Amino acid sequence: YAKKQKDNRAVLYFDDLMIDGERVLLLDAELRKAIEQRAFEVHYQPKIDAQTSKLIGFEALVRWKNDALGIVSPAEFIPYAEDTGLIVPISEVIIQKVFEDAKRFSSLGLQSVPIAINISSLHFQHPNFCESLQQLVDEAQVDASHFELEVTERTVMNNAAETVATFHELRKLGFTLSIDDFGTGYSSLSYLVRFPLNTLKIDRSFIQQICMQEEKQAVVDAIIHMSHRLNMRVVAEGVEQLEQVELLRELGCDEIQGFYYSKPLSFEEAVKFAQAAL
Ligand code: C2E
Ligand code: MG
Ligand code: MG
Ligand code: MG
Repeated sequence: YAKKQKDNRAVLYFDDLMIDGERVLLLDAELRKAIEQRAFEVHYQPKIDAQTSKLIGFEALVRWKNDALGIVSPAEFIPYAEDTGLIVPISEVIIQKVFEDAKRFSSLGLQSVPIAINISSLHFQHPNFCESLQQLVDEAQVDASHFELEVTERTVMNNAAETVATFHELRKLGFTLSIDDFGTGYSSLSYLVRFPLNTLKIDRSFIQQICMQEEKQAVVDAIIHMSHRLNMRVVAEGVEQLEQVELLRELGCDEIQGFYYSKPLSFEEAVKFAQAAL
């Protein structure tokens, strides 16, 4: 009986591998096609001023809908694209689209809303990253100071010494800089103070239980105080409830992002949101 059970398990495992293997092959082929066709869409999640509840920016989040695979989450295809190097051309398509959308926002009178762009680890560490970004800015004829680059804590701490130099170059180009998913990596405070950062985004895992867990609240409180002493703004990610908004406001958090205010919106929806909010 035990042997039979083992066999059953082996078969199940084999089936799982087949499904996963097929999906990866398909994902790979479809991603390459999507790059060529520039078939990615960008959605925009509002960032809200914690004190005034006014719209103060958007975060650009890639969306990919594919005929063969359906909607594929960036949490699935971005890591795959990182592993295969496909992230660099994908990232360039996304940035080009964000720059185009920014000009469309502008032409609708919404030029005052800055946009944050997520930069993947591999792209950030690419030796030509700053040059290629400058080239995209020149081609699109946008103002770099209108954009904030979000790099995760893991990415910057993996390669902290080089990050300092890259960050200074990006600031020289005019971009503002933000650390994403703060609290999930292993920050070295000695590096954190050397980075020319504008913003720190507290990871959703701290916000989720901020009203239930005294320790989470203590950590968030400490992060906010530290950031302000270092002249950085603080964004709370993944805020879903009014109680969280109220607590974060009390703690002095600067910006709030999350489903409580809005999910990521299509370009057209984002325009309507901004027109209603400004
Ligand atoms: P992230 O940059 O930390 O983005 C926040 C993620 O949390 C987004 O998921 C957003 O839709 C989701 N979110 C926002 N508010 C809430 C909330 O209140 N509750 C919950 N449960 N979730 C919320 P998304 O769009 O699936 O993106 C996942 C990750 O994929 C992003 O994390 C980012 O690391 C990466 N990513 C997304 N778009 C891009 C992109 O254009 N380029 C790169 N390189 N990475 C991207
Ligand atoms: Mg982000
Ligand atoms: Mg994040
Ligand atoms: Mg994240």
